[in-house]
Amino acid sequence: MIMPNNLKRGFELYQEEYEQKAVEVLRSGWYVLGNELERFEQEWAGYCGSQYCVGLASGLDALWLAFKALGIGEGDEVIVQGNTYIASVMGITINGATPVFVEPDKHYSIDASQIEEKITKRTKAILSVHLYGTPCEMDVITRICSRHNLKLVEDCAQSHGATYHGRMMGTFGDIGCFSFYPSKSLGAFGDAGAITTDNGQVARDIRMYRNYGSERRYHNKAVGANSRLDELQAGLLRVKLGHLEKLTRERERIAGRYLREIRNPFITLPEPRGTIEGGDRNVWHQFVIRCRHRDRLMEYLKEKGIGTLIHYPIPPHLSEAYGYLGYKEGCLPVTEGYAGTVLSIPIYNGMTDGEQREVIEAINNFRPMACGE
Ligand SMILES: *Cc1c(COP(=O)(O)O)cnc(C)c1O
Repeated sequence: MIMPNNLKRGFELYQEEYEQKAVEVLRSGWYVLGNELERFEQEWAGYCGSQYCVGLASGLDALWLAFKALGIGEGDEVIVQGNTYIASVMGITINGATPVFVEPDKHYSIDASQIEEKITKRTKAILSVHLYGTPCEMDVITRICSRHNLKLVEDCAQSHGATYHGRMMGTFGDIGCFSFYPSKSLGAFGDAGAITTDNGQVARDIRMYRNYGSERRYHNKAVGANSRLDELQAGLLRVKLGHLEKLTRERERIAGRYLREIRNPFITLPEPRGTIEGGDRNVWHQFVIRCRHRDRLMEYLKEKGIGTLIHYPIPPHLSEAYGYLGYKEGCLPVTEGYAGTVLSIPIYNGMTDGEQREVIEAINNFRPMACGE
């Protein structure tokens, strides 16, 4: 059985280092807001090229606290692509703000040419989601933000180490939001997240919010959250960060092979934005193909022992949670079309050559119509 993602393989690549670090933290007697976190924050800020990083408990908290720190809430609108993970949208709505959806382009990220027509007097920010590891079109988006005086928040939960024109995702806007959920490219062994920013005040505010709104114990300045990245996760993330470049290159190699060797007229391959020579780097958090006969393809692969996932079958605007926004089926045809055709095929660190070959051969042999049908 080939799983869509295999976290155990990733663990086994550096098992000894992880185990050593875990024991070190356990024996230290200090488990929350300590040295490991401080050092991880410095290292992650350094890796991204940001002035500050603040560790948090999850990617959703990063989004929530980012909009909170920017003062975006009730009565404000935030522009976001329709085809994102629902957490992107929850980061907006937890604060009482309203998401305004824009269709994606063929690279699966926001179609920047459709943003300006959605801007109203209430628009306060754009949330750019670098979905599947593909950078959004940041030159256009940053220009729109400065022209209309909008804040820019980046959802980098799937784009650790991705670059646009040579610059790291998470450094283009006011705040970059990261998740280190285990399945992410830089995944912890539990929940974790962080923000990056060059704005010292924003960093201080989010640091305060993550600890019940206090900078000094028992002096609470604001109603905050309990959203701390614990020492064990921070330590394990530091170990993994030391190998992130190698891990990303491995994903790039697998994706490159899929792009070269998957050949099937019924299947559309992903098209990464830009060029490597131009400083654009897609980190392949997911390898997402499209097929009009997606459900049949998924079933066929399952029969061959190959697991796949759909990211995501129900777009946020059609979810029960956002029924109150009043969107109907057909409102976002491109987004909805993707929801009905996308399929994420196995890609993970530690995936063997043989497993890759099996996936390629199975997909190449897929025919939607069985004989005699
Ligand atoms: C995973 C993810 C999140 C949420 O991160 P959590 O750590 O699971 O809260 C937000 N946005 C996107 C695009 C994600 O993939």
